[in-house]
Amino acid sequence: MAEETIFSKIIRKEIPAKIVYQDELVTAFHDISPQAPTHILIIPNKLIPTVNDVTEQDEQALGHLFVVAAKIAKEKGIAEDGYRLIVNCNRHGGQEVFHIHMHLVGGQPLGPMLAK
Ligand code: 5GP
Repeated sequence: MAEETIFSKIIRKEIPAKIVYQDELVTAFHDISPQAPTHILIIPNKLIPTVNDVTEQDEQALGHLFVVAAKIAKEKGIAEDGYRLIVNCNRHGGQEVFHIHMHLVGGQPLGPMLAK
């Protein structure tokens, strides 16, 4: 059984977060430490710790992350200029919170994909 993270508390609204979207499958909220003018995290409501734990049963929720990302990007006015979606996995990926999440970052040119 995977251990809950702070993100489960955010989904249940037990701790404050700037939630921008929520439905039965996913929740989206502003990152507490934004790395760009727009930096939103989109997460499945179901606790899946890392990409390594994904199963076919998660396809609907994880596919929905993209639908919601596109919707939020349009709402925030960054869709045309573009943005980046990032999912980190484990230590080499730089994952810090072990509840799968998609970073939606944009609002300025983001530079090369990877820091050298
Ligand atoms: P990771 O490095 O795991 O891909 O990203 C975790 C992200 O979660 C980081 O960008 C970090 O700023 C964000 N984060 C960590 N704790 C909290 C929190 O309590 N609230 C919010 N809104 N974001 C958080």
